[in-house]
Amino acid sequence: MLIQKYNFDVKNIPIISDYEIEIDFDKKTLIVEKLLEAYELAKTNIESGNITGRGFGANVCTCGNDWTLGTNFNNTRNEISSICAERSAILGAYNKALQNFSKLSDSEKFNFKIKYICMCQYIEFQNMKTSVVPCEDCLSWLNTNRYFDDDTLIFAFELDKNNVLSLKVTSLIDLLPYRNLITSTDFSKNKKIVFSNNAEKIKNKIGLSEIFIRDMLEKTYNCYLNSKFSSISNQKIACSVLSNGKLFFANKLDWTRRWFLDPLEVAAKEAIEQGNGNNKLDAICYFGDEFSINNTAKYYDGLVSITAIGRIRQKYATCDTVILLNLNDSILVTTIGEYLPKKFIQGYKI
Ligand SMILES: [Zn+2]
Repeated sequence: MLIQKYNFDVKNIPIISDYEIEIDFDKKTLIVEKLLEAYELAKTNIESGNITGRGFGANVCTCGNDWTLGTNFNNTRNEISSICAERSAILGAYNKALQNFSKLSDSEKFNFKIKYICMCQYIEFQNMKTSVVPCEDCLSWLNTNRYFDDDTLIFAFELDKNNVLSLKVTSLIDLLPYRNLITSTDFSKNKKIVFSNNAEKIKNKIGLSEIFIRDMLEKTYNCYLNSKFSSISNQKIACSVLSNGKLFFANKLDWTRRWFLDPLEVAAKEAIEQGNGNNKLDAICYFGDEFSINNTAKYYDGLVSITAIGRIRQKYATCDTVILLNLNDSILVTTIGEYLPKKFIQGYKI
């Protein structure tokens, strides 16, 4: 047992959670042990010479109570050939579950859900001031409902306010509070505008009047209507970005059914170039289809790109950047910080 090796007194490890959570001693012991397994794998990954110099470990548990470990895989430092520990573990669990699945009858369903994700970074325990959170690439996986749901729990170590190593528990809905939100393509300028708490506070600072909001949404809607290059997926998505008082627009462009250009990154690039990189992105608006269509079947692939929001927030957008979304009976005005409450900090040594 790693708990003995690291001399952990499980009974006295505090639990940090935003809500009441019941974890009995046996479950707590199991989770701490699984976190330590992830910690050791992350350590081995660094010792093996991982090129990023960062070691993460994840231990995931399926609804069938099967545990699988994974670590970050980095062929290069860029996203094309890198995969995080949690996705690595999820893939391992998925492959294992499939190998153990045999379809004996038509009624038999492949039942695969991730119920726990235990995440750890290999750093000194006394430096774990904040817990590890999934990056926005991983969150884009976790934002889907096929293999994850609102109850999926994420466990990590974190120092509490007394600097005592604690067990931090977060549910997926805390990291992705809008994960069940459905947008609409039914446009009307007269819908009521609903402001989130933070949007309400900052709307005047960036000159976001109700007239401006309706106008920005309408222009994004017109961009959506003029979409020409997403006929492979049959999923039209338009995006606009407000920066320095100017609006920039882009539509989704399909390369294949699987590959496409997300309009947020394209519109943001235009805005950044125009401002010579010295400007902030004040607001963004997505308008479009939640689903792609293959023949007549609909696939709910989502409208808002979590990865694109994660990318723009690293430098040009902030947690206060506003997000406008068209819902069935209202226009939602929220902010990136509320859409994605935890920001993943990139931190390569090389
Ligand atoms: Zn990640």
